[in-house]
Amino acid sequence: MSERLEVFMFPCLSDNYGYLIHDPIQDVTASIDTPDVHAIEQALNQNNWKLNYIINTHHHYDHAGGNLKLKKETNCIVIGPMQDKDRIPGIDRTIEHAEEFEFGSFRVKGFHTPGHTTGHMVYHFEDQNIAFVGDTLFAMGCGRLFEGTPEQMLDSLDIIMSWSDETMLYCAHEYTQSNAEFAITVDGKNKDLLKRKSEVDALRKKFIPTIPTKLDIEKKTNPFLRSDDKEIRLELGMMASSRSEVFAEIRSRKDQF
Ligand code: ZN
Ligand code: FE
Repeated sequence: MSERLEVFMFPCLSDNYGYLIHDPIQDVTASIDTPDVHAIEQALNQNNWKLNYIINTHHHYDHAGGNLKLKKETNCIVIGPMQDKDRIPGIDRTIEHAEEFEFGSFRVKGFHTPGHTTGHMVYHFEDQNIAFVGDTLFAMGCGRLFEGTPEQMLDSLDIIMSWSDETMLYCAHEYTQSNAEFAITVDGKNKDLLKRKSEVDALRKKFIPTIPTKLDIEKKTNPFLRSDDKEIRLELGMMASSRSEVFAEIRSRKDQF
């Protein structure tokens, strides 16, 4: 496959990103989640694309709240995680963990990533090095554990960590600057992190998106992917703890930050 998946990204609501994906060969378009119907309609018009699918990551209102209106207007097919089939409005097709399906001429794999919610799913276009990770991973952060346990979230993040370092991660919120502010409180000696923080601050000063992020940079700077890092463990006084204990501690500090 030499053709590239087209990704059209747009900010919406207070800090969400909407994503349209498009296959130029078959002229097929999907919206990743439905944070804001009006913004999605505008993005479709701007590109002259017609909506064929909604692909949902999880049931929260800022991700699936526009499903029924868009489905009614466009007759699109709603795809979402099997584990969330009772909570995603208008769902037509369910995807199981590690199930591969077709989006136009591209192949995409859904991975069940519980933690933020019990049903959350991320979508990986492996041969494109592109993934839509919803509220599981953010730049230098991860989703709040509303429904799942630290162990579950760590397993979910490990799935993302197993992909190619070149993978571009499209997350659903612009939380990067506040995530960086927190990250330096547990990993303040990390040179990659300090450098990235100043880059991010400069971008946000001009309201430039910091998303997508790349997996190799996340591995170097995201404390939630670094629960086995010696410096972080020293800082937390948790040299002998398990990865999930360290992860849980970082997550609870972030919740109170
Ligand atoms: Zn959410
Ligand atoms: Fe969200």
